[in-house]
Amino acid sequence: MGSSTSGTTTLSVVIPMFNEAAVIPALVARLRPVLDALDVAYEVVAVDDGSLDDTAAQLFDHGRAWPQLRVVRLRRNSGHQAALTAGLHRARGRWIVSLDADLQDPPEAIADMLRLARDDGVDVVYGVRADRSTDTSFKRNTARAYYWLMRRIVGSDLPAQAGDFRLLSRDVVEVLRRLPERAPVYRLLVPSLGFPSAEVRYVREARVAGETKYPLRRMVALAWDSTANFSAAPLRLATWLGLTSFLACLALIGFGVVAYATGAAIPGWTSMFVAVLMLSGVQLICLGLLGEYVGRIYATVQNRPTFHVGFDSADVTPDGPLSTPEMPLDPPGVVSQRG
Ligand code: UDP
Ligand code: MG
Repeated sequence: MGSSTSGTTTLSVVIPMFNEAAVIPALVARLRPVLDALDVAYEVVAVDDGSLDDTAAQLFDHGRAWPQLRVVRLRRNSGHQAALTAGLHRARGRWIVSLDADLQDPPEAIADMLRLARDDGVDVVYGVRADRSTDTSFKRNTARAYYWLMRRIVGSDLPAQAGDFRLLSRDVVEVLRRLPERAPVYRLLVPSLGFPSAEVRYVREARVAGETKYPLRRMVALAWDSTANFSAAPLRLATWLGLTSFLACLALIGFGVVAYATGAAIPGWTSMFVAVLMLSGVQLICLGLLGEYVGRIYATVQNRPTFHVGFDSADVTPDGPLSTPEMPLDPPGVVSQRG
């Protein structure tokens, strides 16, 4: 039970949720008819990423009437990509779709994704945002900059504007599960594996309720994870900065020697002051960049799990609906992540 293929579930829909109580009623109302109409055995893996509102209570509530709704609770907030990892590790389906809770990505597209995967035999179907006019212009511009940078780093086969709404086959998920990545950024990792893929285009809608869980701080963190995971270019930057300042210093030395030889007394303070400031700045930047990568190596060597599953309703009621009315809202002391 739990992490591997059970063979009976055709489709898993993984939904990371952090403080999404406001959107759950709308989500359930829209998602369930779509999935029921598919006429396949499915499960919805709702990953409660340490929410502080009543996300979990609501999920348990809906789970009583919707047997396919499975609730996985993380002990603490671990972030979108880690919650996604937890869901991918626990999902049992032959195909696994990941979806945001806020209905910005239309669940109806899941039907098209599944049809493409089955009929064309592709392993990955990307949801591509053909139109993001409902996003704020700030979000659109930062997203454009992000995808531009990532295509330069990862390569141009990266589908632009493909977020975390996608379908993966069991084969892809098994490969992802075995990767040692600490801070996986799935929108880059999946294309880099090179599985046969297809796209479903859709119009990105506005969040139905609640507010974004991606403040600027998290957007910057995602962009840095994306860069550092796929490229050592920032370290090369250190080399270039070093080289440039070395050449500048050579010129300055020449200037100094000539000035000495010609007897021109230089006051000298300004050039000295600027050079010292400049060089120590460059050195600190390079040290910082080096430190970022060393930190990543350290975290990898420590090999701590990136999330802890506190509760999985499938462990309690393997095949049936959520039957225990007094479902734990404080996660009980069950298992942590299973490899
Ligand atoms: N999310 C999560 N953990 C977090 C932050 C976000 O599970 O720490 C989930 C969130 O509940 C949503 C998805 O990740 O289902 C995407 O977040 P959001 O819609 O706020 O991001 P945006 O669409 O604004 O980029
Ligand atoms: Mg969103």
